[in-house]
Amino acid sequence: MRLSIEEIREHYKKFPNHKIEQIAENKDAKVSEEVLIVLIEEIKKRNLNPELLSNIKTEFKTIRKNKIAGVRTIIESLSCPECGSNNKLQAVEINETTSMLLLSKHNKRLYIACEKCIKKEKKSVLFKNIILGIWSLQGLIYYTPLNLYIFFCGLKTEDKKGTELLNNYIFENIEKLAEICDDKAELLHIIQKGNHFNK
Ligand SMILES: [Zn+2]
Repeated sequence: MRLSIEEIREHYKKFPNHKIEQIAENKDAKVSEEVLIVLIEEIKKRNLNPELLSNIKTEFKTIRKNKIAGVRTIIESLSCPECGSNNKLQAVEINETTSMLLLSKHNKRLYIACEKCIKKEKKSVLFKNIILGIWSLQGLIYYTPLNLYIFFCGLKTEDKKGTELLNNYIFENIEKLAEICDDKAELLHIIQKGNHFNK
């Protein structure tokens, strides 16, 4: 049974200083993020050695990194949320521009799908950007050329950037994604919703 942070807090309050120091120093034992949060609180409250805090910070980073990698492996193995194929999923940034009178609205959204669907989406957005993006000076001289540049020249760096985009997406939504990552249907639903957000 997983304890809530309040239960852990109550439990750790009763520990003597040396026990708190021992847990904070023990790099081999696997502790949860909740325990690390409580440890930080106790170390600060009791004015214990501040070096313990940097140990915990390192531990935090390792837990986060492993969590992100675990969720990324699951996401990459999902079927495509757009076409249902089993091709490996990738992440790209889709840039959209719409212009009205003198103003341009430029939007970036993350799109996670198979390579085929990504190409299809990019082409459709490029077409939309050209049609809807040129009706303001800002759209005509800045955003439309930028979108064309991203479409034709940005493709080469995308593999590397895709992993970074996916990692950032997981990092920003880690609590929610880690909770539902065993439910593939729900995970696909969330990715699909994100693909068409603000569209
Ligand atoms: Zn697809």
